Order: sequence, then structure tokens, then C-alpha cells
Amino acid sequence: MIDLHTHTYESDGTYSPAELIEAARALRLEALAITDHDTFAGYDQALPLAREHNFDLICGLEMNTRHESHRVFSIHMLVYFLHQPPPAEFRAWLEEILEGRRDRNRRLIRNLQEAGVDIELHEVEKMGRTLTGRPHFAKVLVNKGYAATAEDAFRRYLGENAPHYAERHGPDTTYAIERVRAAGGLPVLAHPVRLGVADPQREAKLIGDLRDAGMGGIEVHHSDHDKEDVERYARLAAKLGLAVTGGSDFHGAAKPGLSLGTGYGGNVQVPRSVLDGLRSFR
Ligand code: AMP
Ligand code: FE
Ligand code: FE
Ligand code: ZN
Repeated sequence: MIDLHTHTYESDGTYSPAELIEAARALRLEALAITDHDTFAGYDQALPLAREHNFDLICGLEMNTRHESHRVFSIHMLVYFLHQPPPAEFRAWLEEILEGRRDRNRRLIRNLQEAGVDIELHEVEKMGRTLTGRPHFAKVLVNKGYAATAEDAFRRYLGENAPHYAERHGPDTTYAIERVRAAGGLPVLAHPVRLGVADPQREAKLIGDLRDAGMGGIEVHHSDHDKEDVERYARLAAKLGLAVTGGSDFHGAAKPGLSLGTGYGGNVQVPRSVLDGLRSFR
């Protein structure tokens, strides 16, 4: 069994890179990809440890992109570097994206302060490491009694429909695909069920358009997918010639009830053959 979608505390997970490698080895996973949001910091730290134990660690990333179609979709894209490490210019691009996040965070702090919330950016930044995201804001709001749970914090303050929401303009999907391809990475559509397209024909059309834009794979196995989702996306992958990937989307304590490798109550099972298929893909 393998897991190709995990987060460390360098983005919005709670495990250190070392703890994540230890947990993967304890589970006897045959391979693990670290796919933090917008940073390789967790992967970079985990790599020496993985090498020491001869553990198959894959360099990955998750990025939020904007796709303009009949409505604007926020598309999460996984990126895998299977054949060569990410080049310097790609890492430099990630620094720009992190700067865009800092800008959003400053706007969000202003909005919250205007709403009478006692909160400072440095308090929120203390909660995370390389990246400060909305889950870190949620933690502070819960700790200070402004919200009962993270879910509640998103509903009242941080979510897209909350009055204090501050938007972050991630890169355009097509542009991001081009950057990833130019850097030698494989762009993969993450958890397609979260596109929220109920009609299977429209969903297939959107995914076909993404394939035409250069998307190379689709995350067939994911902890948010039920059995029918997995079957539908596997058929679509075969039909469109997309590589198949899969993972739990493990975030440690930030996603309670979700286990590394196996998802929610064993609803994710990614066989080793998925990685073999991926490595043969160009
Ligand atoms: P950001 O990338 O900083 O905009 O934060 C997005 C992250 O917040 C997502 O990756 C989720 O992990 C988390 N998130 C989004 N909506 C919710 C919600 N309603 N409840 C809890 N966590 C959420
Ligand atoms: Fe996340
Ligand atoms: Fe995601
Ligand atoms: Zn994720």
C-alpha cells in the first residue's frame, strides 16, 4: 500500500516531516508522497531520513488554482516530480505564491480586526511554519473563544461565505499546468469530487478540458471519494488517457478521524501498482 497525498506541519498538517516518515514506516507503506500546499519545506526535511531508511519518498506539492469556465472554479492541483527534482526557477515561483498568501493573510487580519476581533498576524503565524493558512487562523479563533471549532471558525469568519472572507488569487489553472510541465513535473487534478459538478456529463467535459490544457493525471483514490466516485474517475482516466493517483490527504490532528494510508475507516486503498503506472507515465 502507498499514500501519495499527505501534509506536514510546514503547511497545514500537524506532523513534522520526521514524524510522518516514521508513521509511514510503522504502517509499512511502500511509498509516500509529501504534498504540502505551496512548499517543498516538509519534503526537503524528510528526504535525508527517507534515504537513511531506504524509504521511497516522492517529491510533491498541492496548489490552489483558479479556472475560468462557465463559472470560476477553485481547482486543487497535485504536482509530482517523479523523474527529476524541481528546478530552481520553480522553487522561486513558489516564493511568489507564498508572498500572495502573506498578502491575503494581512487583508484577512484587517477584516477581522474591523469586525472587532482581537487578533494579530504574528499570533497566527506562530501556529504554522513555512506557510500560514486559514486553518491556523481557525486555531487562534478557537483558542481565543471566538469560535467553538475550526468548522465554526470557517462558517463565521474564514469561509468563502463568511462576511470577513479575504480572497486569495492563486495562479490560473492553465498557467500553473504550463509552469509545472516546463519544470518537468506531472500536474494531477486533486480530489475531483470537490469540483462539485453534480452532472456526470458536465463533470466529464470539465475534466476533458483540463486534460486538453495539459493536466496529466487524476486523483482517483481519495478519502472524500466513495466507491462510485472511484469507479467513475477510474473510467474517466482510462478514457482520457490520464495517469491515476491516490492518497488519503492526511493532515494529522488537523483532520480528525482521517488516518495515514487508509483514510476514514479504511476507505482509501492505494496499491503499489498505481505508483508503477505513474512512473511509466510521461
Ligand atoms: P487556505 O489555503 O489558507 O485558503 O486554507 C484552505 C484550507 O482550509 C483547506 O485546505 C482546508 O484544509 C481548510 N478548510 C477550508 N474550509 C474549511 C472548513 N469549512 N472547515 C475546516 N477547514 C477548512
Ligand atoms: Fe490542507
Ligand atoms: Fe486539496
Ligand atoms: Zn491536500
